Amino acid sequence: MALANLLKTKLTSLMARSLAGRPARLAGHRPVASITFDDFPKNAWVQGGPVLARHGARATYYTAGGFCGRAVEGLQYYDGQDLSELAAAGHEIGCHGFGHQPVPDLNAEELAADAARNREFLSTFMNGKAPVSYAFPFGRVSPRTKRFYAAQFQSARGTHAGINIGRVDLAQLNVISLEMGGWNEKAIETAIHRVLHSHGWLILYTHDVSDTPTRFGTTPKRLDWALGRVEAARIEILPMREALPVALGL
Ligand SMILES: [Zn+2]
Repeated sequence: MALANLLKTKLTSLMARSLAGRPARLAGHRPVASITFDDFPKNAWVQGGPVLARHGARATYYTAGGFCGRAVEGLQYYDGQDLSELAAAGHEIGCHGFGHQPVPDLNAEELAADAARNREFLSTFMNGKAPVSYAFPFGRVSPRTKRFYAAQFQSARGTHAGINIGRVDLAQLNVISLEMGGWNEKAIETAIHRVLHSHGWLILYTHDVSDTPTRFGTTPKRLDWALGRVEAARIEILPMREALPVALGL
């Protein structure tokens, strides 16, 4: 049964991948980069924020409303004060669903309710505005949910490894991981090089930022290194909502 479920998940994911939810062609006028944090653990802002500031970089924090003010499995998550601070500093609040569930498991009604609940929660920190950038929890996508989020957001980010060049799907943008679990300096350097020369869009992602991170997070030192490499390549780092028009040449 477990194997059958695994195969079903894999097949659903492959089908979603082959469906272009929001096809686009990047203009290729100039390269651009984004740094994104998912969920998000409080230290992504408290420890990550000063590193971003050192590089003059503004990030996208993909926020799941259900984590607000909570500690889960020993990890402290953001609170309302953190959201107010980072929004005031020009960072972007993105949507990551309220309940942080794999969305292919939600029926149409649950999907709509979760999206509405997170929008309502986040908009109180965004002067009543709705978030325009979305990231799929756990990177889990199905054709149905891809269509759903493509209709509601300017961009949706997955967790598929890669850079974004030429023809892309704005409903499932690729990422380069800064997580401890998959840390690979060579892969990051190669991605930066390719984005620089093909004028693509580099999207970095991680979760917590700490000297003792989870395997889904990174250290301040590694974050500093990665942003420094992007900076050295003279690629501008912008939140998703601002990088999108640059990438599309609008
Ligand atoms: Zn997440």
